[in-house]
Amino acid sequence: MIPKRIKDLSPYKTETTSCKVRLSSNELPIRFPEEVKKRIGEVVSSIPFNRYPDPYSAELKEIIALRFGVSPNNLILGNGSDELIQYLSISIGEFDRGVIYPIPTFPMYGICASVLGREKIEVPLQEDFDLNLDAFINSIREKNPAIAFFSYPNNPTGNCFSEEKIRRIREEKVFTVLDEAYYHFSGKTFLKDALSREDTVVLRTLSKIGLAGLRIGVLIAKEDIAMEINKVRLPFNITYPSQAIAKVMLAEFYFLIEEHIRMVIRERERVMKELSKLEGVKVYPSDANFFLFSTPYPADLVHKELIKEGVLVRDVSYLPGLRGCLRVSLGFPEENDAFLEALIKVLKRLC
Ligand code: PMP
Repeated sequence: MIPKRIKDLSPYKTETTSCKVRLSSNELPIRFPEEVKKRIGEVVSSIPFNRYPDPYSAELKEIIALRFGVSPNNLILGNGSDELIQYLSISIGEFDRGVIYPIPTFPMYGICASVLGREKIEVPLQEDFDLNLDAFINSIREKNPAIAFFSYPNNPTGNCFSEEKIRRIREEKVFTVLDEAYYHFSGKTFLKDALSREDTVVLRTLSKIGLAGLRIGVLIAKEDIAMEINKVRLPFNITYPSQAIAKVMLAEFYFLIEEHIRMVIRERERVMKELSKLEGVKVYPSDANFFLFSTPYPADLVHKELIKEGVLVRDVSYLPGLRGCLRVSLGFPEENDAFLEALIKVLKRLC
């Protein structure tokens, strides 16, 4: 009864090893002050949770629209942007047309395509992690995919692809999704295109700005496109507590989120500079709240040794083009220092 396309899948894996310093999931380092906790407590305790939540998340959409500089009618909210990637994979083009994306990248584009039985067209990045324009255009002409997904900045490489290349690829008549999960750390966006064109949408998420546990993703599109995609949205997909907490955080405590985003951007520069001083360590440029680095030693070994020192990063060395690479998220300054110290110890031990 279960078809091959499902049997062939493996469940989504994520790093769950417990560690004192967790720099493996690209979350925002933020400790909520008592004042915030008290306010959230009040709001959550007044939820009539025998009732369904607002199916339109109308008030939350108003605040997100204000923060992102768009109109609520341009928005669809998802249970994380993961769910929105699934909605796009369902709504754009017929299923006999595939989905194209560069690799390595965020795995959900491929997973959603596989679940639906859509062809996955994977185009390896260049050595500098930018898009291989000729390979993209040739693949599109040969295989006629309906959707292109670009993680912008790209997870796990950390860079934003060339804007001109993305525009050129879009001219090949492929519906273009800019997944701007890390926008707040890059400042680069295709928002104007998403608001004015029928072939472009932008994805954002509250997960990387301190609210990962609430599971709120944001799709931004022209009103008529948003209206169509909204038809596949499951009713009540944003829970009552998530709507309530996100509203308070964005309306009353956004300054805290912004402060911590600025801290991460400062830390990115500091930690990358410190790390690149270490002999044999290569640090790759980043527009995100994480970056890639490699050492002269096997990445799986460095990963394990860092865990022994109480620091968890992500081993991404099994991905195409990333031999020897590990991905580390920026944390609080003291967590980043713990990472740097641990790595120095590990490198000494291994040499
Ligand atoms: N897109 C990218 C590029 C990501 O890295 C992630 C999370 N790691 C997501 C989407 C999913 O985010 P969310 O928590 O909103 O589902």
